[in-house]
Amino acid sequence: MTDKAKKTSPLWDVIVIGGGHAGCEASTAAARIGAKTLLLTHNKNTIGTLSCNPAIGGVGKGHIVKEIDALDGVMGIVADASGIQYRMLNRSKGPAVWGPRTQIDRHMYSKTMQHLIAKYQNLYTCKASAQEILFKGNRVVGVVDNDLKTYRCGAVVITSGTFLNGKIYMGDNVWDAGRMGDEPSKRLAKCLLNLGLSRGRLKTGTPARLDRHSIDYTALEKQKPDSDIVPFSYGNTRVDMPQIACHITHTNQRSHAIIRNNLHRSAFYNGNIKSAGPRYCPSIEDRVVRFSEKTQHQVFLEPEGLEDPTIYPNGLSMCMPKDVQKQFYHSVKGLESVHIKQYAYAVEYDYMDSRELMPTLESKRIKGLFMAGQINGTTGYEEAAGQGVVAGINAALSTTNRNKSFTISRTDGYIGVMIDDLITQGATEPYRMFTSRAEYRLHLRQDNADERLTEKGVACGVVGSNRAKRWQKKKQQILEARSLMQSLKATPSQLKKVGITTRKDGRLRNAFDVLSLPNVGFEDLQILWQQLISLSREVKTKMEIEALYRGYLPRMQRDILSFKREEKILIPPNMNFDSIGGLSNEVRTKLKVARPTTLSAASRISGVTPAALITILHHVRKNSYAQHTKEILEKTL
Ligand code: FAD
Repeated sequence: MTDKAKKTSPLWDVIVIGGGHAGCEASTAAARIGAKTLLLTHNKNTIGTLSCNPAIGGVGKGHIVKEIDALDGVMGIVADASGIQYRMLNRSKGPAVWGPRTQIDRHMYSKTMQHLIAKYQNLYTCKASAQEILFKGNRVVGVVDNDLKTYRCGAVVITSGTFLNGKIYMGDNVWDAGRMGDEPSKRLAKCLLNLGLSRGRLKTGTPARLDRHSIDYTALEKQKPDSDIVPFSYGNTRVDMPQIACHITHTNQRSHAIIRNNLHRSAFYNGNIKSAGPRYCPSIEDRVVRFSEKTQHQVFLEPEGLEDPTIYPNGLSMCMPKDVQKQFYHSVKGLESVHIKQYAYAVEYDYMDSRELMPTLESKRIKGLFMAGQINGTTGYEEAAGQGVVAGINAALSTTNRNKSFTISRTDGYIGVMIDDLITQGATEPYRMFTSRAEYRLHLRQDNADERLTEKGVACGVVGSNRAKRWQKKKQQILEARSLMQSLKATPSQLKKVGITTRKDGRLRNAFDVLSLPNVGFEDLQILWQQLISLSREVKTKMEIEALYRGYLPRMQRDILSFKREEKILIPPNMNFDSIGGLSNEVRTKLKVARPTTLSAASRISGVTPAALITILHHVRKNSYAQHTKEILEKTL
């Protein structure tokens, strides 16, 4: 333990196990709330490690990073300090689904995160392996490490990633590991098994790492960064890191033949790995087999850092033996003489059934036990971090006598969508975020995460005063800009003078009306109304987006209100589903596993029919659970 930790009382409010992406957010969130927090992790030098691709964000994932930032989290800040190729994905589509993404300097990301955590108030770190969780009745009271040292605490957040009974596969070679170079967590896995929590196995894979100096870039396409960078953190107006290009190459028929001829040697196909992998991030073996009609697959050659000569060939994860990997990589254009620094591999690990968690990410059965990240069946840094914030906040709230909880609804954020999906549906394959998972995506945009979440964060104490003040200032600017836009009006002939054509109906149109016309941008408005010039770039983009969606947003707001009404019909945690007549056995079993906390959540469990919902609603009403509802709503921030 650090000297800092030795001097303090041994009773911790919150202990976070694991210094990955969920752990970094959970521990910093708990510390921001004011909980005395211990981050207990295998190795302080691997805190914030990007185990796979050197990138943060993407479609859906970028939204989550913005939401974490809106709650004063750390991922966006660290990404901005180490981002080396910013791109807004999906620009050709509507702004609701734009996906901010940046290539990351891998080493700089983890070092920046470690530095930030080391100086975080209320947060202490300790290098140890958690082996056992201690309980008193059904409440967590501590953690025991590999030296049999006991740490007493009020709540534990487990964020052990791919480490629970982790096994690495490379062709026929199989060994125990949490990821390359790291020991697995076997004792902790056994402890969770002994608790009787349901679990399963999942897998994921990573490509080889290549030496930049041995790649022939001459015939490869270049992918440049955006010229107008949008930082991840709302607190940043610019990014100072140098921006670099990636390169694009493709596999070919010879590469595919190498894969097909050696499928029996891949751990994915020789029967060694039976668990499901990430559907939307398939291995090259999977892509060759599933899309056999394709003659090539795109590969991004992504630098792992400004100084680091390592290249990450995005799209080429595999689980072949080394000799096949060598043949395969050498068959790809530009990689004919490539030197492989680290071979590709897959990892298989235990994950816990997320249907046993509440929307706060606390176990339904064990008080004070929270889980976040890959352990809940997700894949991806951002998904892990998004859960980490919620688990960290609630672990802290549960121990600092505030008798409150913090949840994010599906209507308020992608993090809410993800947690709701996890706790109602569970995960049978690694869950990753997409914008298509959100019903209210015109509302859940990357530009307005602060508008949706920062005040909620202030209310529970996770947002610090600097950010709160910055948000209040921005909110004021947005309100003023909206009212200015509504007050500025022009006739069709006034508009024509500045080159904007509309129907000649004599109608006065306000700045929003004009901005919503096709091919009209803010620059056109500014010719007509110079008072708009002084608005910040961020506010102008916001006005453009609001103008674009103004026909749809009111309807979506009505849908959101009706969803929120349904969310208020609560199902008590001890509801005896066996006592409800008229439910089929299948529905009853599913309800008993998922134990939905609201009628709305019950409606999203596959197989729960509208008729079953009405039956449950009658039961809830007949048994007047209104008092329970009132109490819970009072406790929810
Ligand atoms: P991790 O980042 O794995 O962090 C877990 C942390 O817990 C580590 O610091 C570990 O040391 C610590 N820990 C574990 N057990 C203990 C213990 N008992 N005591 C103390 N500390 C402990 N994601 C994608 O989106 N796409 C991919 O293609 C992809 N491929 C991947 C390939 C590989 C080989 C690996 C390993 C991961 C891959 N990922 C991929 C997943 C991505 O790395 C994770 O989703 C993400 O890192 C999960 O974050 P986490 O915080 O849950 O866990």
